[in-house]
Amino acid sequence: MLSRFSGKVALVTGSSNGIGRAAAVLFAKDGAKVTVTGRNAERLEETRQEILKSGVPESHVLSVATDLAAEKGQDELVNSTIQKFGRLDILVNNAGAAFNDDQGRVGVDQDVSVYDKIMQINMRSVVTLTQKAKEHLVKAKGEIVNVSSIAGTAHAQPGVMYYAMSKSALDQFTRCAAIDLIQYGVRVNSVSPGGVTTGFGEAMGMPSGAFEEMMKFMESRKECIPSGAVAKPIDIANIIAFLADRKLSSYIIGQSIVADGGSTLVLGMNAHNWADLMKQ
Ligand code: NDP
Repeated sequence: MLSRFSGKVALVTGSSNGIGRAAAVLFAKDGAKVTVTGRNAERLEETRQEILKSGVPESHVLSVATDLAAEKGQDELVNSTIQKFGRLDILVNNAGAAFNDDQGRVGVDQDVSVYDKIMQINMRSVVTLTQKAKEHLVKAKGEIVNVSSIAGTAHAQPGVMYYAMSKSALDQFTRCAAIDLIQYGVRVNSVSPGGVTTGFGEAMGMPSGAFEEMMKFMESRKECIPSGAVAKPIDIANIIAFLADRKLSSYIIGQSIVADGGSTLVLGMNAHNWADLMKQ
């Protein structure tokens, strides 16, 4: 029996770790040929091995260690994918990061070099990689899935202000690109995760284990994650695959699916017990 992505080629950025790795493994298991990428060659090889372990043939995986922040790296990614697999059906713009101000400043005082660095990887690289992939996606009538964040939705997050701004910009990119590209039959959508246990904290400079501790705190507080559970990368990968699967999601155009255990639905005052408050 044919798997749901048989005959398709998927390029998943940021697949040397976290959500991207889970998505690449899922696409490969479900029949796609995949290009996996990230800067860290060792972690990238771990992803490749995880794919091979699930019984996927070596010929279905292309591994490209490169810096996505540089356009040269993006050209390499698209060109080598086409060279190896001959087509591109699914582009997952997942690579992303947050950086701290090296002097600990937050809010509007964060140095603008932090803004530049964040926008470079979270937004500019998405624009240019999409441009480079466009002709191939048009040929295939393909799909783009962007990985945004609830940080980009309608609430303030001054602690990680530039990161939040980059994801709001990405959401608008998703909407505009979706309307621009649907004329060629290419769909663009995104997923906006809440907390997910990945390498994100360490990439941000947090000590080993600190991100996991922070997530444990969040899932123990109903005003942070009402469902009481931080997400695993596969929870988000499943949504990416759904949005890349035209048989299941063909009528969704330019939307972002929020997957956050209810975090964005909680207005601070509603996390408290209104019945008790009204008795006072
Ligand atoms: P990870 O740090 O585990 O993964 C990030 C991936 O992006 C890595 O594979 C990393 O590869 C890659 N990457 C980062 N910078 C570059 C670069 N310059 N060039 C090439 N690759 C790069 O984090 P997540 O899996 O959590 O992050 C994936 C996406 O999910 C991001 O867009 C993030 O903003 C988003 N997200 C994450 C949430 C969370 O709680 N974890 C919540 C909401 C959204 P390498 O280090 O090898 O270069």
